[in-house]
Amino acid sequence: MKTSVIGYPRVGALRELKFATEQYFRNNLTKEELYTTAANLRERHWKEQKKNGIDFISSNDFSFYDNVLDTAVLLNAVPNRYRRLELDALDEYFAMARGYQGEKGDAKALAMKKWFNTNYHYLVPEIDDDTEIFLAGTKPFAEYMEAKKCGIETKSAIIGAFTFLKLLKFTGRKTAEDFIADIIRAYADILKKFNALKAGWVQFDEPALVQDLSKEDIVLFSTLYAGILSEKNDAKVLLQTYFGDIRDCYSEVMAMPFAGIGLDFVEGKNTLELVKRFGFPEEKTLFAGVINGKNIWRNNYATTVSLIEELGRYCRNIVLSTSCSLLHVPYTLKNESSIAHEYKKHLAFAEEKLIELSELKRILSGGDPRRTAEYIEDQRLFNAPRNCENANVQAAVSNLSKDDFIRYPDFEEREKIQKAEFKLPLLPTTTIGSFPQTAEVKANRSNYKRGKITFEEYTAFNREKIAECIALQEKVGLDVLVHGEFERNDMVEYFGEHLEGFLLTEKAWVQSYGTRCVKPPIIWGDISRAKPITVEYSIYAQSLTAKPVKGMLTGPVTILNWSFPREDISLKDCAFQIALAIREEVLDLEANGIKIIQIDEAALREKLPLRKSDWHSEYLDWAIPAFRLVHSRVKPETQIHTHMCYSEFTDIIKDIENMDVDVITFEAARSDLGIVETLRQCDFKTEVGPGVYDIHSPRIPSVSEIKEALFKMLDRIPKEKLWVNPDCGLKTRGNAETIPSLENLVVAAKEVRESISL
Ligand code: GLN
Ligand code: ZN
Repeated sequence: MKTSVIGYPRVGALRELKFATEQYFRNNLTKEELYTTAANLRERHWKEQKKNGIDFISSNDFSFYDNVLDTAVLLNAVPNRYRRLELDALDEYFAMARGYQGEKGDAKALAMKKWFNTNYHYLVPEIDDDTEIFLAGTKPFAEYMEAKKCGIETKSAIIGAFTFLKLLKFTGRKTAEDFIADIIRAYADILKKFNALKAGWVQFDEPALVQDLSKEDIVLFSTLYAGILSEKNDAKVLLQTYFGDIRDCYSEVMAMPFAGIGLDFVEGKNTLELVKRFGFPEEKTLFAGVINGKNIWRNNYATTVSLIEELGRYCRNIVLSTSCSLLHVPYTLKNESSIAHEYKKHLAFAEEKLIELSELKRILSGGDPRRTAEYIEDQRLFNAPRNCENANVQAAVSNLSKDDFIRYPDFEEREKIQKAEFKLPLLPTTTIGSFPQTAEVKANRSNYKRGKITFEEYTAFNREKIAECIALQEKVGLDVLVHGEFERNDMVEYFGEHLEGFLLTEKAWVQSYGTRCVKPPIIWGDISRAKPITVEYSIYAQSLTAKPVKGMLTGPVTILNWSFPREDISLKDCAFQIALAIREEVLDLEANGIKIIQIDEAALREKLPLRKSDWHSEYLDWAIPAFRLVHSRVKPETQIHTHMCYSEFTDIIKDIENMDVDVITFEAARSDLGIVETLRQCDFKTEVGPGVYDIHSPRIPSVSEIKEALFKMLDRIPKEKLWVNPDCGLKTRGNAETIPSLENLVVAAKEVRESISL
């Protein structure tokens, strides 16, 4: 039995690529040095896989920023605004990724979107009417040859034609139809080139096939591959799918002359059923995705061995594979010194997953798999108690009743009570929570973490910053204040650190986009709150001002979505546990005089299932209740806010309303206020604060543009319901732009207030 890895992480176990690239951006590293770092990483990653006996290793899974962007460049899909800059290839590439502002001109970056149901972001390629698609680049061939020089035969991993067409944006009048012939030509040329290099296999990644497909989609897929494969000659094409099952096109895929087909048995809940029902062509190789590429738990060999045995009845040739690229898990457990062995032995990051593949290969190659040492050892782990349970927490979840999810009285009633309670002006102004994380703020946290300063010194500094922040907001004239979040590194990691049941890592970075990596906490056991987390800082902040200061929490769905979840209990149970812990915090804040509490759900939409038919049954039906659970017990006069980082919630607007908050703030500045129109159409009752300016950009918005945005909003939203705030937290910005931006925001709100009350 052979083994395959769909793709490997590329930023480096110690984020070497990130640091080199950022140094290159700052002109502290030459292009050649950056190329050398990249080549060394590629070699290291290939050799690591080789060492573990992986038979199908990918090349071209490396990227300086993103693989979809690589594909766009490979196919000449470079919009003119970048060509005009006349940069060299690498700088043009980075200009597309990050935008360019400099002596050669000005060009906005391509849009960035979440890669299917992951927290990885890809760049959205743009095709203009005059874009000519053809094989323009050499990256896959160069990296294939580079691996070969290291003595490693690889399969080149390339985003497939169908997924590429589905993800890109047509900026002119042309549509996918108009580019089919050229796309076929380009991909056929890729195969031709690999044939000339005498490469064996080429992997086309087609995750778009696991989504809901229309008839037209299926025709498009078939047309593309009929064309591409008609010129494949000796090339063996692996059609690689992941993130779900391909129930909409299973027979069409099987009918095509692919040499191998990669199916996901981890997230594809119908994959096994499809194979059993429709069979698997005997001339093809099944790349069975059995090692979870998205989560960090050890593989249960009993499950995998049984699955492979069952598949053996339907498929002649099986290769063991990861379920998706290992890009979505951290590199290695080796660098985690603070996690005890007793926990570690249950975990598998990318390197450990390679070991699992090699062990499974041995287990399944001859003899009775269940008597192999590796199998027995693995089962010992799964049969031993995990020591992660908390009977009180479990009882609390199972004792929940319908009433726990309902807040009384209903919104209309509360709105009146709260208007009387707070007496805020029309169009109240506020911010989303964090204030600039200056170097000294970061240094304070890291000095404390490294034991360089005492807890007292650490908190004294934070209190000083809070006092400054409150004074600043009063001076600027905001109506509802925040404490500034100076104690938080990250809105999820912070709660992970303070709740029981999480494991925190040191070096377990996962690429989020480009050079940005995140370190998701691991949910090890039942979640509970040992003691108040945010209450002291909140009380202190409130003591400094007569204006209301918002308590600031992260919601259960976001905490869950940005962590590695357990697999031994349901996501729903886990979300409810977190919700109960956060609810204790909410009630403590309220008991201590905090009258407005914001519970952020920045990532609510992120894990929305890829297929619409699963949206409610698999996700929203517990995610929304989990959120409601958090605030269902507060007093009518306590005002609950939530914040979301995106405005793409038109299609789940009823569910958002169902969260039953009093105020929701969200990103809107970049979306041309489309969402505001939706709010009007569906008669949204929750008060809303669509962001009036984009905090992702260092630009300072003028009073007049903020006023203009507000007037547009007022065309669609009753004035009693509108709040005025930026798009998101200010932590990534500097004070230099934050202060004048907020000043302008307050002036704009005041002027609009005056003109509408006339
Ligand atoms: N309250 C958080 C902040 O302001 C929200 C962050 C987010 O939406 N990602 O930083
Ligand atoms: Zn946000």
